[in-house]
Amino acid sequence: MIDADVVVGLEVHCQLDTKSKLFCGCSTDYRNDGPNTHVCPVCLGLPGTMPVLNRRAIEYAMRVAKALNCTVIPESEFSRKNYFYPDLDKAYQVTQYDKPLALGGYVEIEGDDGKERRIQLTRIHVEEDPGRLVHMGNAERGRYSLVDYNRAGIPLIEIVSEPEMRSPKEARKFLNKLRATLEYLGVFDPEKEGSLRVDANISLRGSERVEIKNITSYKGVERALTFEVTRQKNQLRRGLKVDRETRHYLEARGITQSARSKEQENDYRYFPEPDLRPLRVQSWVKDVKLPELPDARRERFVQQYGCSLNHARTLTGELKMANFFEAVVAGDGNGLCKLAATWIADTLAGELNYRSMGIDVLDAKRFTGLLVLLKAGTITDKSGIEVMRVMLDERLKGETVETPEAIVSRLNLAKTTGDDTALLGAVHDVITENPKAVEDYKAGKNGALNFLVGQTMKKTRGRADPGELNRLMVEALKSAEQ
Ligand SMILES: [Zn+2]
Repeated sequence: MIDADVVVGLEVHCQLDTKSKLFCGCSTDYRNDGPNTHVCPVCLGLPGTMPVLNRRAIEYAMRVAKALNCTVIPESEFSRKNYFYPDLDKAYQVTQYDKPLALGGYVEIEGDDGKERRIQLTRIHVEEDPGRLVHMGNAERGRYSLVDYNRAGIPLIEIVSEPEMRSPKEARKFLNKLRATLEYLGVFDPEKEGSLRVDANISLRGSERVEIKNITSYKGVERALTFEVTRQKNQLRRGLKVDRETRHYLEARGITQSARSKEQENDYRYFPEPDLRPLRVQSWVKDVKLPELPDARRERFVQQYGCSLNHARTLTGELKMANFFEAVVAGDGNGLCKLAATWIADTLAGELNYRSMGIDVLDAKRFTGLLVLLKAGTITDKSGIEVMRVMLDERLKGETVETPEAIVSRLNLAKTTGDDTALLGAVHDVITENPKAVEDYKAGKNGALNFLVGQTMKKTRGRADPGELNRLMVEALKSAEQ
């Protein structure tokens, strides 16, 4: 397996979900407002202004550091990173350099071999987000760019991993785990556009390292890395070498492209930020409390609800899904756990994904109602899916969402019973209409019975219990033989 040669490291920038910016009182809730409306002399970098550190941002960063098993450094320091770029109004970024807030730590993921594996972290540091350039037209050929400083000064943490991931898929798992942890900590909103940005470095063992800059989506990271693995392998296969370089990921085309200007080793002339004191947190870090984190909750779901490890992993992989599951099973007291795990993790998750909906749009009580109908055998699994789709589509269209009972009654989805004349009628119709399949069945051909049962399912629109229908069909075929 050639993939064993892949080595991936990630630098993940996450916006901390504080109310105000890192060094001033400007609101961070800028996404629906016009450009340059959330700015003040401090975050515009006007001369003579002084930064005031946001206590909440440091508290959030320490929560992350503790949750990721890092060592919080008692005295860290902010530094100026000097460079010129139009989105950086001060011509320097306030960041942490040689004395970051936290060192070490790890993230546990399910490795490609199925075993839990620790990906070691190098460090976590705090810094300010630069502004945002809006290119008019195409980034390469556009005539000019506009700059929006609403984002300038938003608190960021940068989480740097060791190069320990062995495939693009492991990188995705790492990010998913990180996102879940940050969400559980209440310090990060993954749904906000641009709240997470990733620089990835990748090399095939023994050759040069390539850095891919500024990937802005979770899926993008895996895609960009997959593209790079193929590109680099092709280079080596053709006897060429892989250049050490920085590349950009073009999201729309799913490819990486060499950054046009060769980025040389920049000399950022870091020096300690003279307007901020060293950050001393020794007495503070002890008081930083952590909530239940994804791994602990996963274990609890296995113990308390009897979930399979896979279901527990899916359910706890997103805070909202975990909360939804617990709300659904609490509504009934007991007995629905297994059913709820399967229906939420396997079925509902897919339907939501297909509609690009979040799980929080659904009412847990309604979902419990659906599971009760399934458990009681009032409807078949197939009808259950139909009821769920109706509820989701009603929500999507902004209509009133019906109760599962109302949908079952309106669409006549209640399961047929063995002595149901309509069902028996359908069985006999199918036998009459498909003489060839009946012949095949008699000749002992595999699949003929399944075909006949399938045809009857279609006629009864999935209302019949498949096992029951199978039995009725075999009986009917037997009596047709005599
Ligand atoms: Zn400001």
